[in-house]
Amino acid sequence: MTPEDTMRLLVALRSRGVTDTRVLEAMEQVDRALFVSDTFADQAFEDVPLPIQSGQTISQPSVVGLMTQALGVQPRDKVLEVGTGTGYQAAILAHLARRVYTVERHRTLARIARENHAVLGLTNITQISGDGSRGLPEQAPFDRILVTAAAEDPPGPLLAQLREGGSMVVPVGVSDHVQTLVKVTRGPDGYDYEELLPVRFVPLVEGVEPG
Ligand code: SAH
Repeated sequence: MTPEDTMRLLVALRSRGVTDTRVLEAMEQVDRALFVSDTFADQAFEDVPLPIQSGQTISQPSVVGLMTQALGVQPRDKVLEVGTGTGYQAAILAHLARRVYTVERHRTLARIARENHAVLGLTNITQISGDGSRGLPEQAPFDRILVTAAAEDPPGPLLAQLREGGSMVVPVGVSDHVQTLVKVTRGPDGYDYEELLPVRFVPLVEGVEPG
């Protein structure tokens, strides 16, 4: 990432409302070019989503920034991400949290993400190949949960795996075109829901895929 690339990225993030210093610093440290295929390398620092393997997409940097900021990750947190893709968001979370578990239903993507994280020397990420809509009961509860695929409703198993006082950020909606980013916070007596902004994500799909 050249200084010009970093500058362009930071300008885009700030102009979209990413102001949290820790989030900006984490994003400065993660070279997005590693997570896009060579075909799109020249666009790695544009504020756009790009195609990745298995017909999926790497998220738009400003959306990654806004979701991460909304999640409010603390240094001691144990975080679950559902929908690793090639692992860009997980790498950023790994700079902010104690431990990151990330689940991807496409085996090929899970393998690519694992390799990317190894290249970056990020040892606090556990990559899991599987259906993340069920969460990860054996590692629950989580302080933070980030879902990077759109669900019709916040998945029940994920709500159940949130620690009291913890929060989850998830794109919610039935449309393929626009969904609403929702922040769910677990309080002593139940869940509080806050609508944040319109987003567009690939759908959360149950089951696993080899490719
Ligand atoms: N977090 C990624 C975004 C990847 S796109 C990034 O940083 O760029 C969303 C990903 O969610 C896709 O790779 C898709 O395969 C995955 N996905 C969809 N449903 C899933 C499920 N039930 N469990 C795990 N991964 C899922």
